[in-house]
Amino acid sequence: MSADKRWCEDARRVRRVVLLVLDGLRADLIGSPRYPHLSALRQESAYTLDATTVLPSVTAAAMTSLFSGVAPNDHGIVSDRFGVPKYLARLRPMPREVALHGLPSTGVVRQVPWPLRPLARRIVRELGMQQAHFAPANVRELLRAAMPALRTQTDGLIVMHWPDCDAIGHTHGWMSEPYLDAVARMDAALGTTRELMADARTETLLLALADHGGGGRLPNAHDSAHPLDCTIPLLLSGPGVHPQELPNTHTLLDAPPTVLWALGLPVPAQWAGEPITAAFAAPTAARRTDVRADTPELQLLREYVA
Ligand SMILES: [Zn+2]
Repeated sequence: MSADKRWCEDARRVRRVVLLVLDGLRADLIGSPRYPHLSALRQESAYTLDATTVLPSVTAAAMTSLFSGVAPNDHGIVSDRFGVPKYLARLRPMPREVALHGLPSTGVVRQVPWPLRPLARRIVRELGMQQAHFAPANVRELLRAAMPALRTQTDGLIVMHWPDCDAIGHTHGWMSEPYLDAVARMDAALGTTRELMADARTETLLLALADHGGGGRLPNAHDSAHPLDCTIPLLLSGPGVHPQELPNTHTLLDAPPTVLWALGLPVPAQWAGEPITAAFAAPTAARRTDVRADTPELQLLREYVA
C-alpha cells in the first residue's frame, strides 16, 4: 500500500461531506436568474466556474476518477462504458478509504437496465461504498431515494449523481430549451437538498461539481477536448469555507482529496489532485496568480485552444 500525503495530519473539518455530481451542467449557467438555488449556492461557496474535468470528458471516466482519485489512464476506464476499473488492484478508492477509517458512505445513483445490475452492484462493492441506492434516472426520484441518508447519516460521505441535464443534452442539445428546463429541475432539487441539509449545515461540506460540460465541438455531445466540453463548475460550501472565487487551475481530480481532507482522513499519495485547502482560508489578492504545474488535461486543453 502506498504512502499518504502530508495533509493527513490536519484535523477533521466537517462530520459529513455531500458530493453532488450535476451531470453535464454547463458552468456558464451558474449565476443566471433562472436558477436561483445555483446562484445562492455560488454566493455561499468557494467556487470556480472554470475548473477542468478529465479526458476523455465522459461520465464513466470522470466518475471513476472521482471515486479513485486518479486520471482515466491510471484507473483504466477510458470510455463512457462503466465497468470495474481495470487497474482496481492498485487503486485506493475514496469510499473504501472512508470505510477504512470507520465512517459510513452512501451512494445514490440511477438504476441501470436489468442485465447490468449485477455489474453495477459489483462496481459499488469494489469501490467500498457501504450503502447504494438505485433510483429512476431523474432528479426527483434520485433525491427522494437520497432523503433518508441526508436526514439520518450525519457522518462520512454521501454521493449523489443527477443525470438529467446530460440525458436531455444528448437528445436535444446543450443549451436547448429542454436542456435549460432540465437545469431548472436540478436547480429546484438543489433547493430542496439545501433545505434538508439546513439543520446539519454546520456539520456538512457540500461539494457540488459537474463531470463534464457539453455542446463544444458538437451540440449533442461532450466527449471532445473543446473547452465547453471540458470546463466544469466546482463549488464548496459549509462550515469553515470562506466564500470566494478560486483559481481556474483546479480539476475534477482535486475533489476526492478535498473530501478526505475535509473529513480529516489521509490522502493517498497516488492520488493525482490536491485538497482545495484555499477554500477554507480567507481570500488573498495574490492567489489568483498562483501557477500550478500543468496536468495532462490542462496541457491538452491548451493545445486544443491554440
Ligand atoms: Zn453524456
